Amino acid sequence: MERLNVKSLEENLLKPEVMPDSNGFFGEYGGSFIPPQLESIMKEIETAYLEIREDPNFIRELDYLNRHYTGRPSPVYYARSLSERLKGAKIYIKREDLNHTGAHKINHCLGEALLAKKLGKKKIIAETGAGQHGVALATAAALTGLECDIYMGEVDIAKEYPNVVRMKILGAKVIPVTFGLKSLKEAVDAAFEAYLKDPVTQLYAIGSVVGPHPFPMMVRDFQSIIGREAREQFLEQTGKLPDNITACVGGGSNSMGIFSAFLQDLNVNLFGVEPSGSSLNLGDHAATLSLGTPGMLHGFKCYVLQDENGEPAPVATIASGLDYPGVGPQHCYLKDIKRVNYEMINDNEAIEAFFALSREEGIIPAIESSHAVALAMKMAPELSPEETILVNLSGRGDKDIDFVVANYGAKFGI
Ligand SMILES: *Cc1c(COP(=O)(O)O)cnc(C)c1O
Repeated sequence: MERLNVKSLEENLLKPEVMPDSNGFFGEYGGSFIPPQLESIMKEIETAYLEIREDPNFIRELDYLNRHYTGRPSPVYYARSLSERLKGAKIYIKREDLNHTGAHKINHCLGEALLAKKLGKKKIIAETGAGQHGVALATAAALTGLECDIYMGEVDIAKEYPNVVRMKILGAKVIPVTFGLKSLKEAVDAAFEAYLKDPVTQLYAIGSVVGPHPFPMMVRDFQSIIGREAREQFLEQTGKLPDNITACVGGGSNSMGIFSAFLQDLNVNLFGVEPSGSSLNLGDHAATLSLGTPGMLHGFKCYVLQDENGEPAPVATIASGLDYPGVGPQHCYLKDIKRVNYEMINDNEAIEAFFALSREEGIIPAIESSHAVALAMKMAPELSPEETILVNLSGRGDKDIDFVVANYGAKFGI
């Protein structure tokens, strides 16, 4: 665990409201590297967003939906059995798995759909990997009366069939992507191409804190409700702030959501958890911050897993939602200034945590979220019972049960 250098932190701007700068940079990361025909459209989205973010009607509408549609605030829960068995720090869980549609993604999809309405768009489009962002966006589209096109790799369509059906039931169109590895990266490429053809009537609703400015800022702001709630709930329950927070990092939205409320509390240790998959060899993991190098991807600068030619490398993890060769620019900045520690959890450790939380707490976590649980389980025995770890449980595991049983059932007596 690296020690915080408080002085250098204070020299850097940690206040969320002054990050990013007006060009969308978090230090050297982020920005907007896009085809010229998108520049004015991105500017328009940014201007509209900066306006509605202060608009009492928009704030009231989003707040209403968060409470009465999504079911916020999501609880913070003390995982007593798991904590007592591990004989160490007390583990608390922020239950984003209890949101409508089963994960944190609905938080930014509602925001993006309301923004699309405000901009007079007819359609929201997006890519999806495991189908989680697609389902959340199709839900927000149904709610707000927008059309919805979801680009999805053919491989993922076969793998994640229930989510494909959900999107169709919700009225969205699922468009198969048939080139390359036919997975998430190609789905982003395809959605981007479709967006370029008609950026006027469509809004590209990016699924994480990635992509060109203003998306990393906007998605973070919509997800920051997780951190604001958790801070208040944790203080109310324990009288203190958590000593440690863990959250899984794919693109980085659920983790930015919870971290954003604690960035200036330097006594709260923040841990982003990346998947080291089946091995540390390039192609076997998706640990972008831990093992990647700065580069360019999908219109912004960030750490990238790249091959020897500087092309995005193939990535692999059992958590489809973490399967991306890039990562949000604010995370890259927070890594460089050492405000957040980025750790790795492999496939097997994630599965152990999946069953531990299921069997000791009665909560079936998403495999993505299981990575954050696994790091907490690793840390807890080394800490005293006076110390606390807050885990952001980004989603529920219903989507993963067939995969888990088929691949790991025998080992766990199923
Ligand atoms: C999509 C997803 C993630 C990864 O996305 P982030 O932007 O890193 O939060 C994590 N957990 C769940 C349950 C997801 O659906």
